[in-house]
Amino acid sequence: MRILYSKQQLQDGVHKMAAEITATYGDKPLSIVSVLTGSVVLVADLIRELEMPLRVGVIEASSYGGETTTRGELSVNAELMFDIKGRHVLLVDDIFDTGHTLVKVIEKIKEFGPKSVRSAVLLRKHGRQEVTAQPDFVAFEIPDEFVVGYGLDYDDHYRNLPHLAVMEEDDLARHKELIAADAAG
Ligand code: 5GP
Ligand code: MG
Ligand code: MG
Repeated sequence: MRILYSKQQLQDGVHKMAAEITATYGDKPLSIVSVLTGSVVLVADLIRELEMPLRVGVIEASSYGGETTTRGELSVNAELMFDIKGRHVLLVDDIFDTGHTLVKVIEKIKEFGPKSVRSAVLLRKHGRQEVTAQPDFVAFEIPDEFVVGYGLDYDDHYRNLPHLAVMEEDDLARHKELIAADAAG
């Protein structure tokens, strides 16, 4: 895999984004909503850079039918989320690609009557957007390549990589071999 951002670079980017979030909210209480599962690593690091009173909740966005980025029917499940009525909500996701996921999640969040809704993402993929809405906070802009690590997965694997890497053809082949060998015992 080709490393796009090192552990240190990611840490610096998250630190900078946290400063922007702090500049926006000051010491107002914040309800952070983590879009499962790709944002969990970012959220874990981000909340330790924030000092306002905050809560951390989760919301689930799933698309059926796609192995990597190809999108099937998108559904949002807010059953695990806490009450956000009258609260300042900051949605956190891993990557803004076409933008459909974030738009759909924001729509859902608004049904619960928050005081405000903003969004923060680790990555925005260049030249892929199909919506006019944009995330309020972006740590890194990336080219149009499939990336894994720091929470982002391929086939539910590689979320644990401390860096962000591009998954290339030979990595895909190696992954398939590994899974096949594991299934064969
Ligand atoms: P969107 O709805 O913005 O097109 O897609 C957002 C979702 O697609 C992300 O939350 C993520 O799950 C997935 N996605 C898009 N690009 C990538 C990528 O490069 N790597 C990984 N691992 N997931 C991606
Ligand atoms: Mg996602
Ligand atoms: Mg995924």
